[in-house]
Amino acid sequence: MIVDPHIYGPGWTPTYHPRSVWEDPARPVTGPAWVPRLVDMIVPHYTAAIDLIDGDLGEFIDDLPAYLRAIQRDYVVTRGYSVGYWWAIDWLGGIWQLRGFDPYTGLGGFKSAANAGHNDHTGPILFLVDGDDEPTGEAMRAARWLNACTRRHPYRGRRTQLAVVDHGRLPIPPGNPTACAGKGIRRVVDKGFLSDEFQTFPTQPQETTDMPTTLHLIPPADAGVPELIVCVDGAGVQLIGLNGSTSQTLALIAAMKATTVSVSAEQYGEFVARAAQ
Ligand SMILES: [Zn+2]
Repeated sequence: MIVDPHIYGPGWTPTYHPRSVWEDPARPVTGPAWVPRLVDMIVPHYTAAIDLIDGDLGEFIDDLPAYLRAIQRDYVVTRGYSVGYWWAIDWLGGIWQLRGFDPYTGLGGFKSAANAGHNDHTGPILFLVDGDDEPTGEAMRAARWLNACTRRHPYRGRRTQLAVVDHGRLPIPPGNPTACAGKGIRRVVDKGFLSDEFQTFPTQPQETTDMPTTLHLIPPADAGVPELIVCVDGAGVQLIGLNGSTSQTLALIAAMKATTVSVSAEQYGEFVARAAQ
């Protein structure tokens, strides 16, 4: 899997799979309610299995509901209680609700049953990775988002940062060591990639529309006019540049993070006219 934590921009919302899409009504997830004001820590986990459904050849997202049902069945049958994690995160950054509260409404949710000796004050997240793999950038972004949802939960009563400590580095009861959450996840915990404070983009001013502000305009190929980079915002249209050499153009497009938009000859002419004002 490609590891790229540098995917975390404004306007992003995760793919969320509520319990209802995978749960077997005969074996629902249950547990005592969590107490938001006690929670001060997010705890990553892995399964330790070396061949999970994680996007390798022949592994499909559609197979995850049955996999989660199997985990829940195993917990209920062999341990006598429901799967202990709050959420699972797949390689595409999809979030699967297990014990966790609904991150959109903040409602529901059960106390952790995955962090022995620490269940009152911790929120466990299961990364669906092969063994010691690192999570994908998308998965880390989803984890940061859940971290932020938990940190800002209205019933928590304070918005202090949550510590991120992987399972095996909790001060667990003696005689109960674990390699969880694996070497890859420990590395990204140590780099701060799962922290709500981790930012890869500078804070951007609030936009009032979803419209991209920097556009790389590609006119119709037969129009015989150069490609154009313009900035569109509340102040109007501003010409940033147009192509000199190919390398200069590519550098400018990359620097401006310009969105590529193909336009008609009429639209192109309108942008040029407005930029000239
Ligand atoms: Zn664990």
